[in-house]
Amino acid sequence: MVDRASKLRERMVSWQIAARGILDHRLLDAFRKVPRERFVPEGTPLSAAYGDYPLPIGHGQTISQPFIVAQMVDLLEIDSGDRILEIGTGSGYQTAVLLEMGAEVVTVEVYVELVSKARRAVREVCPGKEAMFLVADGFSGWEPGSPYKGIVVSAAPPEVPGALLSQLADGGNLVIPVGRGIQELVTIRRRGEQYDRRFVESVRFVPLVKKDRS
Ligand code: SAH
Repeated sequence: MVDRASKLRERMVSWQIAARGILDHRLLDAFRKVPRERFVPEGTPLSAAYGDYPLPIGHGQTISQPFIVAQMVDLLEIDSGDRILEIGTGSGYQTAVLLEMGAEVVTVEVYVELVSKARRAVREVCPGKEAMFLVADGFSGWEPGSPYKGIVVSAAPPEVPGALLSQLADGGNLVIPVGRGIQELVTIRRRGEQYDRRFVESVRFVPLVKKDRS
């Protein structure tokens, strides 16, 4: 028998993600595997866990709308085994999706309480797949793990942090919302010392906060 969460998850994948043009089956399969209800606050109704919107997770932060996560992961163009740096762990939902796509994940978050919850949920949901969780300021990325085939940022800085550009592998892709207020979602592909920037769409993310508040 298919349980209610699985049905809602399948509906989310078809109506919110595939119907909007994201058809990479590896990505869709990853979304089919991750129980989103494990990443929202306890007591959240199942229908809301799979709703087409972001939800609050505490500390003024949110778990992103499923489609936004799908879009950002899709823009990364990851292959299995790629090392990915995620800035803004939040609930850990996107971390789990990246792991299910076969990525090696380093994830950075400023709020220590969010990190411990996220780590617990990811361990439970992706047994045998380890991400590296760090409490740090994402503006600086994480140099020791570089170069990264992809860097995905889930909160918006006013400008693209130089540290993130320098930690990209040649041919790697940075996916990031940039700006104050209404922001631009952009992708930046590194080719040697050249960085090709492409505008994707206008978006609204929480700001990337400047200092360590853990
Ligand atoms: N993909 C996550 C999105 C979380 S929202 C999810 O779906 O759950 C963005 C996250 O970025 C928040 O958890 C916020 O605390 C974190 N954040 C904000 N400023 C940061 C910074 N300077 N460094 C690292 N993380 C930061």
